[in-house]
Amino acid sequence: MNTYPPQPVTFVRGEGSRLWDDQGRRYLDFLSGLAVTSLGHSHPAVAAALCTQASTLLHVSNLYGTEPQRDVAATLDRLVGGGGRVFFCNSGAEANECAVKLARKWGGRGKFAVVSAYGSFHGRTLATLHATGNPAKHEPFQPLPEGFRHVAWQDVDALAAAINPSVAAVLLEPVQGEGGVNPATAEYFQAVRRLCDERGVLFMVDEVQTGLGRTGRWFGFQHLGVQPDVVTVAKALGNGVPIGACWAREAVADVFEPGDHATTFGGQPLATAAARAVLAVMEAEDVPARAEARGAYLVRALEAIPGVRAVRGAGLLVAAELDGPVAKQVAAGALDGGLVVNPVTDTALRLAPSLLVTEAEIDEAVTILTGAIGAVIAPRGTVDAPQAR
Ligand code: PLP
Repeated sequence: MNTYPPQPVTFVRGEGSRLWDDQGRRYLDFLSGLAVTSLGHSHPAVAAALCTQASTLLHVSNLYGTEPQRDVAATLDRLVGGGGRVFFCNSGAEANECAVKLARKWGGRGKFAVVSAYGSFHGRTLATLHATGNPAKHEPFQPLPEGFRHVAWQDVDALAAAINPSVAAVLLEPVQGEGGVNPATAEYFQAVRRLCDERGVLFMVDEVQTGLGRTGRWFGFQHLGVQPDVVTVAKALGNGVPIGACWAREAVADVFEPGDHATTFGGQPLATAAARAVLAVMEAEDVPARAEARGAYLVRALEAIPGVRAVRGAGLLVAAELDGPVAKQVAAGALDGGLVVNPVTDTALRLAPSLLVTEAEIDEAVTILTGAIGAVIAPRGTVDAPQAR
C-alpha cells in the first residue's frame, strides 16, 4: 500500500556496516534499518543461530515452553536490573500495547490513563498511535482508544498537573528517537520517578529505539539514575528478525493472569534463537562501551563539518542539526554518495550506525556527509536557494 514515499534504492545484500543495491553499488549503512541491525548486517553468529533453529524447532505456540525463550527472558531481566518478568511479542508497538494493557489491569477500574510526552513515538497501532505525542498523526484515525494524555517534554510541572486519579502510568523514551533525537535529562527522569512514587503511578520507559547498548549503556534509563516499573524493547533485539518484549517488575507483571494477554508468534523459537545469539554477541563485544567510545568519535567528527550547527544524542544514536531545513536534500545527496542516513526532522539528520562500526567507517561516512552538506549549504553557511527548473 501507499504508506511509504517512493523507495529510491533496492538493497540486495548486507555485511557489517555495508549494503549493496541491485545495481552492484556499495553503501555505508549509518541508519541500521532504523536502529535495528545493531550488530551490522548478516552477523555470522545470528545467521548460524537462525539456520540451526530452523532445522531444529520452528514453532510450538506459547502453550508450551521453549529453551531460547527462557534464555532470552533471563538475560533481558538481568540486563534491565533483575526482579522482573518478560512478555514476548513481535514489534515495538506490540511491546507498548502490552505495557498499556498491563498498566490498565494494574490500575483497576477507573485508573487507566497513560500520560506520554509531545514529540514522542510509541507505535502505529490504535492505542500506541494515541500514546504517540503527535496530534497531527491522530486526526485521520479518530476516534482513537480513550485514556491517553500528552504533556510537554521535560516539563515536570505539566506532568504533575496531568496526573489525576484516572492515571495508571507515565510512558516516556529516554531519548525521543523519531521526535528528533532529544535526550531526557537525569533531573527530569528522577523527578518523574519521584512523582510516580508519590502518586502511585507506574513509570514505563520505552526503550524500543534506545535499548540494548545503543546509547552507551544497556538501556537509556541507566544513564538517568532511575529504575522503571516497565521497560519495552524491540528493534535491536533480533538484529533484523522481528521480536519485541515487555519487561515489568514482578509485582506489576503478576497482575496478568492466563488469558489476559497472548500472541501466536511472540517469543517463538526462531525469533528468540536470533535474540539469544544477538545478546550473547552484544555481551561478548561489550556493545555499550563500544557505542559510547565510537559515539564520542562520531560526534566530534560531525561537529567539525561546515554546515552542521549542533550535534546531540547519546552513544551511537545521534542527530546532526543543519544550517537550514535541508535534511531531506542532504540525505538524498548522501545516498547518491553511498551513505545511508535519515532526515529525522526538516533540519536534522539521524545517524544510528552498527554498534560494531569502526573509526575508519566513521571517517568514510563523515567524508561523504561533508560533501553532501557542502553541495546544499553554501560555504558562508546559508542555504542555497532552490534553482528554478
Ligand atoms: N517506540 C519507539 C521509541 C520507536 O522508536 C518505535 C519505532 O520506531 C516504536 C515504539 C514502534 O516500533 P515498531 O515499529 O516495531 O512497532
